Amino acid sequence: MKPRIALLATGGTIAGAAEAPTAAHYRSAAIPAQELLAAIPKVTELAAVECEQFAQVGSQQMDDALWLRLAARVNALLVAGGVDGVVITHGTDTLEETGYFLNLVVKSEAPVILTAAMRPATALSADGPLNLYNAVAVAAHPASRGKGVLVVVDDEIHSAREIVKTNTTELDSFSSPNTGRVGIVTYGAARFFHAPVRAHTAQAPFRVDGLERLPRVDVLFAHAGMEPDLVDAVVGLGAKGLVIAGVGNGNVSDRILAALDRARAHGVVVVRSSRAGSGIVGRNVELDDDAHGFVAADELGPAKARVLLKLALNHTTDLAEIQRCFCTY
Ligand code: GLU
Repeated sequence: MKPRIALLATGGTIAGAAEAPTAAHYRSAAIPAQELLAAIPKVTELAAVECEQFAQVGSQQMDDALWLRLAARVNALLVAGGVDGVVITHGTDTLEETGYFLNLVVKSEAPVILTAAMRPATALSADGPLNLYNAVAVAAHPASRGKGVLVVVDDEIHSAREIVKTNTTELDSFSSPNTGRVGIVTYGAARFFHAPVRAHTAQAPFRVDGLERLPRVDVLFAHAGMEPDLVDAVVGLGAKGLVIAGVGNGNVSDRILAALDRARAHGVVVVRSSRAGSGIVGRNVELDDDAHGFVAADELGPAKARVLLKLALNHTTDLAEIQRCFCTY
């Protein structure tokens, strides 16, 4: 019996259509899931794929409501639906956030694989069909179990926790800067080099069943000459958490530091991440996190730090516990 794989299509460039095979202008989220599958007839040799048009959006539209609905659907399929794995087609823009969110809230060891494309489905040398074929192959592979949510793009397998989009348009636009890819997949033949080390899915305590919203968390991008009233505005708007994409090792100017202290005084949880794009933001390096009551983002960049902070704030506002989450998940 072939593995049963559910395909949840959410849109993105992998379902994009252009006027001509070489046109730069195109519409993402235009082609139905069944047509994406029809482009890879050989996939039936890998798995019995059940196709569902979950959404049809560019991934810049992803928000808490869509994430919560997607998590509920994936959990339902894996826990009660009898499928062996799930493949999700997604836009590339926010794939890293959706993937990390699912990595924390899916409660199953079964493979959950996100895939995407940089070129629309109608493009000359479209990358979507082989990416989708490879994603189904990885979902059907027994070694993919227990590895958390994975992303398959451009013949590579990445942990959803690690992957980031690093280029606006080029084919080779994804990497896992802190840890590297976990494997490769060549015309459906998957090979793993590493297993993700951080706790995920069933080992993570985050549950979102029945939730309709998550706490508001904003991200501010630090830069030379940044104005502190932006921080005050975020507090005034009712954010429960603030991720500061600091310069270098999560640093900020003295004026921003004073504004972050004001935010703390209003009970906003402040997480220091970095705009640098890779590396670790450590506690108490140039800034005294203990004295200011800040959380250091550890390995997470700002977008993923925001995802984890939302989920952590849903359970607790205890700073030590939130810091533990950043060092564990
Ligand atoms: N902005 C669209 C999205 O993220 C298209 C980009 C893409 O998928 O590559 O869905």
